[in-house]
Amino acid sequence: MSQENFYMEGSTGLWEVVVGLEIHAQVTSEAKLFSGAATTFGAEPNTQVSLVDAAMPGMLPVINKHCVEQAVKTGIGLNAKINLRSVFDRKNYFYADLPQGYQISQFLDPIVGEGHLDVELADGRSKRIGITRLHLEQDAGKSIHDQHPEKSYIDLNRSGVALMEIVSEPDIRTAEEAAAYVKKVRAIVRCLGTCDGNMDQGSMRVDVNVSVRKPGEELGTRSETKNVNSVKFLSQTIEFEARRQIELIEDGGEVVQETRLFDSQRNITRPMRAKEFAHDYRYFPDPDLPPLVLEESWVDELRKNLPELPDEKKARFMKDFDLSAYDATVIVSEMENADYFETLLQHCKSQDPKMAKLASNWMTGELFGALNKDGLEITSSPISAENLAGLLNQIQDEVISGKIAKQVFGLMWETGKDAPTLIEEKGLKQVTDTSAIERVVDDIIAANPDMVEQYQSGKDKLFGFFVGQVMKEMQGKANPGVVNKILKGKLG
Ligand code: ADP
Ligand code: MG
Repeated sequence: MSQENFYMEGSTGLWEVVVGLEIHAQVTSEAKLFSGAATTFGAEPNTQVSLVDAAMPGMLPVINKHCVEQAVKTGIGLNAKINLRSVFDRKNYFYADLPQGYQISQFLDPIVGEGHLDVELADGRSKRIGITRLHLEQDAGKSIHDQHPEKSYIDLNRSGVALMEIVSEPDIRTAEEAAAYVKKVRAIVRCLGTCDGNMDQGSMRVDVNVSVRKPGEELGTRSETKNVNSVKFLSQTIEFEARRQIELIEDGGEVVQETRLFDSQRNITRPMRAKEFAHDYRYFPDPDLPPLVLEESWVDELRKNLPELPDEKKARFMKDFDLSAYDATVIVSEMENADYFETLLQHCKSQDPKMAKLASNWMTGELFGALNKDGLEITSSPISAENLAGLLNQIQDEVISGKIAKQVFGLMWETGKDAPTLIEEKGLKQVTDTSAIERVVDDIIAANPDMVEQYQSGKDKLFGFFVGQVMKEMQGKANPGVVNKILKGKLG
């Protein structure tokens, strides 16, 4: 990446943008962090609230072992240190959607300590982003302001749901790096089944800390934009905040540490409230909960049984199928893509590198293009992995050429039929009959005496012209290998 892309230009020269992210990821779990109430998304308000979640007097929290397991697995996936002893603290604040008057969180002793992730960028660069910690905490309820002209309602379904907060080091320098980092975290939690990663449903949301500085200087004062809920908004937040802060400083102003909100209508951030400092929360260990102590052997067992992570999958695809780093990264970026690719290859005639390359080209080219155009997810692709394999097998067997295959692909997309059926129906089979091709070659040579002369006097490039003419005449259905051979023979 060039310096210009890396730094931002201001009227006083170049600025470095510094970003640190706090990701809130809702733990995939049937029950809440400290109660047995259900966590189903979209349920009727206040139908999933236990006495603990409503903070009735005398209720005691009981830790949900499954949530602990989910946090530990995620920590392992983030290459992080698992702390065998961690502590739950009360974070005190008053808000209508927080009946306890405090949130149970982890402060000084989180369940997961330092880790890191390597992210791949478009220019082939890989960048390591440090992870400070991951801790477990309760989510709050929700205030609803649009149901009544004077009243606000409270829905406590979300109250007590387990969240993992994943805090990064301020290692991120561009919107692209931030996006790659969030996508990678999402791919990992999805792969592990520890969070569904659905940003549009709010089960993964990001607090975006941004500051700017002149290269080589100390860290600047940051703003924190809360609850950003898409990768696109994340990039826009960073671009906007960096630009705003640079202009502010260059105009003689000063960045204040504050909490902001992203306005997706106008693509800007605006102030929400002045930052509460950590001591305002009066953190102290929750007296209702003893320190959480994990057995090392239990953690080891989880480590051993972890599913294959995106990085491992990528390495395997590169090694076994000879895919390029770029292709492999694209394919493993979403678990559904990787699953599609593996099913696709399983149904291909062979699994050798040549076939794998063909499969990855078709998947990242034609298939992703078509999905994109129709705004579809791979899981609802009109062409199944099995059917795409069927098409590639027809190319491999030289029943059709790659060019005709694109036509067949379009028909498959529209009709949902499989490749062999369509090739039969539309008569698209490749002509390999030598005498039929020979006749066409003779005609083309006879019709283009000038070209033949030029070719024979050394203009080798004209060979392509003859191939093109034959193919055109035969509607693309001639076997290219046979055409080449006959043309070579006849043209001398
Ligand atoms: P808080 O919990 O009050 O938001 P933390 O110290 O936990 O504060 O930091 C939160 C996030 O802010 C981290 O992701 C960290 O990397 C990031 N951060 C800290 N200082 C800066 C800075 N100067 N510029 C950008 N990000 C920063
Ligand atoms: Mg914060």
